[in-house]
Amino acid sequence: MNSAQWIAKGDKYIMRTYGRYPLVPVKGEGCYLWDADGKRYLDFLAGVAVNNLGHCHPRVVAALQKQAAELIHCSNYYHIPTQIELAEILCSHSFADRAFFCNSGAEANEAAIKLARKYSREKYGQDRYEIITALASFHGRTMATVSATGQEKVQKFFDPLLHGFVHVPFNDAGALAKAVTPNTCAVMLEPIQGEGGVVVPDAEYFRQVRRLCDENNLLLIFDEVQVGIGRTGKLFAHEHFGVTPDIMTLAKALAGGAPIGTMLAREELAASFGPGTHGSTFGGNPLVTAAGVAALRTILEEGILNHTEEMGEYLMGELEGLKKRFSFITDVRGIGLMIGMELSVPAGDIVKKGLERGVLLNVAQDRVLRFVPPLIVGKKEVDEMIEILTGILAEI
Ligand SMILES: *Cc1c(COP(=O)(O)O)cnc(C)c1O
Repeated sequence: MNSAQWIAKGDKYIMRTYGRYPLVPVKGEGCYLWDADGKRYLDFLAGVAVNNLGHCHPRVVAALQKQAAELIHCSNYYHIPTQIELAEILCSHSFADRAFFCNSGAEANEAAIKLARKYSREKYGQDRYEIITALASFHGRTMATVSATGQEKVQKFFDPLLHGFVHVPFNDAGALAKAVTPNTCAVMLEPIQGEGGVVVPDAEYFRQVRRLCDENNLLLIFDEVQVGIGRTGKLFAHEHFGVTPDIMTLAKALAGGAPIGTMLAREELAASFGPGTHGSTFGGNPLVTAAGVAALRTILEEGILNHTEEMGEYLMGELEGLKKRFSFITDVRGIGLMIGMELSVPAGDIVKKGLERGVLLNVAQDRVLRFVPPLIVGKKEVDEMIEILTGILAEI
């Protein structure tokens, strides 16, 4: 079937929860995708910061093929070697002592919310359950994570929301301090807001947040679902800010495209999640964790973090060049290969034109072009994207 036929059939059977572009990708390799008509696209979205190693990375493909032939799924009633290996790698490269595995970013945040509440109530009493999060944040689409998310467009239609979430402006430690009450148990933040439009806070912000948490015995939860796993040139984005959380959530890029999520915590907190307190049927199953081990080892062993930093600087420089040329570009910001370009005009049409011209771009918050290419992107691909983008911007 060709693209138009797939799109027509999809319109008949798939729920309309996404505003989909008229693209039917059927094959991927590195930074490129091919659609059902054989047209090639340069992918600067990477499945929303999921395909950090590009499409069908050979090490991830090999791990999936091998594991699929040996054991796809058993149950968390048993011990799963690939899950244990993945947990070991994550813990040995972070502040964390233990990992809980699930299937998505929202589920990882659900786990973090449940652990923060359980631990805090056991330690400080029944009234400790409130979690402070940021306005314009994004934490997922389940009821608890919708309640945690500081965006009305995600929350409307789903009242009543879960009780116990308070939203404050991001990058404002004073507002956060004012929101702390005797009921507060945790602060949950993205190190860089992704869906919120690639918002990078001041260097001082997280140090102030950490101090506030320490003074009030609050847990600091970092949602690194989008920015973790090398996206910013460090394995975890919070490393840029010199601040350590108590709980961290990961998902998107963790398993090279296989669906996975994890919640990591220090031992003292992890002790609160005993047998029967939380769980997931598929969470951390052999297939996805085999992919996770392969993806993470590739990132750590093949110089991907340094390459990300280098390519991030190169892409940032090119985008700064465009900013000098086009007055409607008001800001270029980001760390590593997590870059936003803010415009004074809506960015939607740019994405549509990009699609026609063979490059996949993305827009967050209407006026911010978000660049999250595979971390393996080279100068050649950056140049190709910049050339197409320049042509589109020149028509505005
Ligand atoms: C994507 C994202 C989520 C939700 O992840 P899902 O896998 O879609 O549930 C949560 N937090 C952040 C910061 C994200 O970018």
